[in-house]
Amino acid sequence: MMTHGYNPEWSEGAIKAPIFQTSTFVFKTAEEGKRFFAMAYGKLEKPLDEPMGLIYSRINNPNMQILEERMALYEGSDDAAIFESGMSGISTVMLSFLRPGDVLVFSNPTYGGTHHFIQHVLTDFGIKVYPFHSTVHPDDIKKTLKEDGVLDRLRLIYLETPANPTNELIDITSWANFRDELRAQQQDVRLVVDNTYLGPIWQKPVELGADVICYSATKFLNGHSDLIAGVVCGDKDSMIAIKTMRTFIGNMAGPHTSWLLTRSIETLKLRMDRQGSNAQKVVEWLLNHPKVTRVYYPGLATQGEEQVRIFREQCLHPGAMISFDVEGGESEAFRILNSLKLIKLAVSLGSNESLAQHPYSMTHADVPDDVKEALNLTESMIRLSVGIESSEDLIADLAQAIG
Ligand SMILES: *Cc1c(COP(=O)(O)O)cnc(C)c1O
Repeated sequence: MMTHGYNPEWSEGAIKAPIFQTSTFVFKTAEEGKRFFAMAYGKLEKPLDEPMGLIYSRINNPNMQILEERMALYEGSDDAAIFESGMSGISTVMLSFLRPGDVLVFSNPTYGGTHHFIQHVLTDFGIKVYPFHSTVHPDDIKKTLKEDGVLDRLRLIYLETPANPTNELIDITSWANFRDELRAQQQDVRLVVDNTYLGPIWQKPVELGADVICYSATKFLNGHSDLIAGVVCGDKDSMIAIKTMRTFIGNMAGPHTSWLLTRSIETLKLRMDRQGSNAQKVVEWLLNHPKVTRVYYPGLATQGEEQVRIFREQCLHPGAMISFDVEGGESEAFRILNSLKLIKLAVSLGSNESLAQHPYSMTHADVPDDVKEALNLTESMIRLSVGIESSEDLIADLAQAIG
């Protein structure tokens, strides 16, 4: 993450790639310009050993390219694309593969923005959408789609695991098997995984069979709460379609954002290791607190036997996101949130500073009450994103706040 895709000799010996704050690039000759365009528009196959010629920063830019090469390496995918937000990456993936009459199935709960885009935007474009809960097996969805006569229109399976804020896991392998079954009958269908919570360190969807992996790079990847960005990784064919769509929607990340994110991923593993070990200490402490009635964290027995099985097969670590219930409903949850001193009261997650929020009234305010109830998302729940501070300081802050 510190050397791949950049050689200091290219930029006056600068040890870090400079910010290429430029909109356009000068061609050496008209012939070169013609060749670059032919490759950018797929009229000419790009030789593997030749980098994509620089044309215009909506199509490519060195800062975006260095980051894309590093992200593809980290994820173990053929290619990567950087976006100006996680949502722009996710929506571009969906617009790349779905057409009126097509079917999308997606795990529920999913990130609020993703949920809104699916339920309110895609449906307006004539896409049929089928949400499913973590306990639903692919065979159940297959049966439903068959009954509705739309199984052959299934184009995208979209998973977010662990799910926010309950930390429920979806079995990626079982959905990859379902995708394979449909592909064996020549159906064009892709498996997409939002890997924001655990990746690329603690969950490897490519190895589990995913085609496309989405990130809100705003979260762990950047980890400093100072930018909004998205990353999409995937196989060669999927990425050609996604990058083409990105070129025409025009939602690529700018040079400065790409540069900041390239800086951030140099320390990603160090930060995540520290956040993960801090989170495990906080979970242990919460489990022993008499006022804490339930802790939601991957791999805990209270998440259920099937959940523990999926955790063992799919995750390398339970992560740095914790939800917990306290006695006393909203008023007690608010009292605790208002009493925290070191831990900041804010949404977002994955950053180097710890954050706490109230999912019921904040990030999940838009989810209907009956759905929240079915998901176990109560007014007593607090969600914590654990940072890199001293775990003793974090526990001391929680102790004084919870009382
Ligand atoms: C934040 C988030 C998103 C959206 O990303 P933005 O960078 O805010 O656009 C998508 N999925 C998950 C899981 C997230 O946490």
